[in-house]
Amino acid sequence: MNKPQTEKFEFQSEIKQLLNIIIFSLYKNKDVFLRELVSNAVDALNKVQFEMLTQKDVENPDADLRIDISFSKTQNKLTVEDTGIGMTREELIENIGTIAHSGTIDFLQKLSQEKDKDQVDLIGKFGVGFYASFMVAKEINIITKSFQKGAKAFLWKSSGQSDFTIEETVKKIRGTRIELFLKNDEKEFLDKYRIQNILSHYSRFIPFPVYIEGEKLEVAEAIWSQPKSSLKKNDYKEFYKFLDNIQEEPETYLHLASDAPVQFQAILFVPKTSVEQWGLFRTEPGVDLYSKKVLIQKGSKDILPEYLRFVKGVVDSEDIPLNISRETIQNSVKIQKIRTYILTKLFNHLKNIKNKEFETYKNIWDHFSRNFKEGIVSDMENKEKLADLLLFSSSKEEKDKYTDLKKYVERMPKEQKEIYHVLGMDRDSIEKNPALEAFKKKEWEVLFLTDPLDEVVLDALGAYQEKSFKAVESAEIELEKKPESEEDSSFRDNLEKFIGYLKGLYGDRVADVRVSKRLVDSPALLAHSSEGPSLHMEKIIKMMNKEYTYTKKILEINPENPLIKELVKAHQKKGTSKQLEALSLQLLDNLVLREGILDDIDRIVPRIQDIMLQAAKKI
Ligand code: ADP
Repeated sequence: MNKPQTEKFEFQSEIKQLLNIIIFSLYKNKDVFLRELVSNAVDALNKVQFEMLTQKDVENPDADLRIDISFSKTQNKLTVEDTGIGMTREELIENIGTIAHSGTIDFLQKLSQEKDKDQVDLIGKFGVGFYASFMVAKEINIITKSFQKGAKAFLWKSSGQSDFTIEETVKKIRGTRIELFLKNDEKEFLDKYRIQNILSHYSRFIPFPVYIEGEKLEVAEAIWSQPKSSLKKNDYKEFYKFLDNIQEEPETYLHLASDAPVQFQAILFVPKTSVEQWGLFRTEPGVDLYSKKVLIQKGSKDILPEYLRFVKGVVDSEDIPLNISRETIQNSVKIQKIRTYILTKLFNHLKNIKNKEFETYKNIWDHFSRNFKEGIVSDMENKEKLADLLLFSSSKEEKDKYTDLKKYVERMPKEQKEIYHVLGMDRDSIEKNPALEAFKKKEWEVLFLTDPLDEVVLDALGAYQEKSFKAVESAEIELEKKPESEEDSSFRDNLEKFIGYLKGLYGDRVADVRVSKRLVDSPALLAHSSEGPSLHMEKIIKMMNKEYTYTKKILEINPENPLIKELVKAHQKKGTSKQLEALSLQLLDNLVLREGILDDIDRIVPRIQDIMLQAAKKI
């Protein structure tokens, strides 16, 4: 027999970088390599179990589904072996040679430069698990044989530097054997108790028997099928760590069981952090679908709507057949029922936390508010339930405190019919918006929106408890009028004339000039029509299309304001003049400037300088 041919491959350059980071700087806690290997073995066993149950012809159908961990002290060798799905030659090259997520390297590089390396445990989230073994091993062999009938076995070999080799080999049983030849100072892992210790907490959730040097580790029933009363908080926490393969604890969890209309059990977790917030990639759906404790779909897209992709957990239903296909899952009425049930419970759970453990909810909100908002825009059926999860800053709350819509509506005085909101960069600039003055005076609450998405969200929501949403700029709100004196009436005449003058001066730059019924302190305000797009929307349109012209606004002026009073007086005394013209034009441009919709700064600067010159002469 000829010596089998050995082929040599270079690692993808990203993998080389990754290996460097992992080996030289990243991990504080080397133990994790073992959990990564065991977790891969569990995946492989889950997959082959599913293939067997869907009646495909597989290699060694009678082989036990199990994981074996063993050592050879003479060879400094630690072996992790499974009877799982195995890999073909192509799969070996593909799976152990590419990185799942682009952006991973950038992130890890950043992380490796951080002094505090506590975060490195998050590595499990990035699908670089297998490579962690190079922290402790100077050389690794993967001997693997695919489950497909008649498949050949292959040996993958690498010292984790720049390349690996693959050659054909002999392996009796389907599955994968990973041999780690440990570095000299990592021999501590050739110890049964050390290995048991690393796998403790974790191993009880492994759904297949694990043997260490032939001795079986204790395993428990699937945790979700156990009665809630027999489980402690810690059991759930440990299960979450097992599921997500990280050391972080969940923020909250929910254990559900139902017998009708569909039988199922489920445990759902809301994580403490959001990977999406780092802006690197989208989270994949995190709820695994089981049927009678056999995994039939990892990260099911059908159990929860996409915007809840951050929720992790398991759903197990006896009513879902084992050999169900991807398409059938999608269209299954039973899955629909499970989905509706789970969603209702999950929303209620979150609402409860919001009402009873606000600090916990605030953390969920800080990390996943974007997901809830995405839901309002995309899930018509559940948008009302999601509306109850929204939080807002508000004029009735202190800085950094939130209100929800329910509280807002409870606080509304009888005569208030709408829910008011104002959008701005931050609270400080929002509070200076003149459109808020009337609301302050009336003591009506206004929601402060600082996320540009909020406007779209409220628009999609339409109303809450039949109260529609209204931007303060387009609200038709009036303050009570003071009774008019004789002096007022002559002023009013002059005011009307001044307004006529302004209309002529501004021409078609504004839709109208009016006396404001809602300003208290500020001289003037630009009001928007409530029909057209909001100002924020207009800005977005303008960004995309430079040719866009803003809809015309209405200039409201405040006759109580000293500046307006002086302008009216000046107009009455001297009629039109160059100075009055400059001041009146500046009055409008100040507002345009404040709204951030100014298109020509050069028109303004010389005028202000001129106004300054006139003022300086009078000092
Ligand atoms: P991840 O497990 O997060 O995908 P890994 O680097 O640990 O990342 O593994 C890469 C891929 O290699 C896996 O997705 C799987 O396809 C394959 N693989 C790893 N270990 C095994 C195994 N024991 N049996 C079969 N396939 C495996």
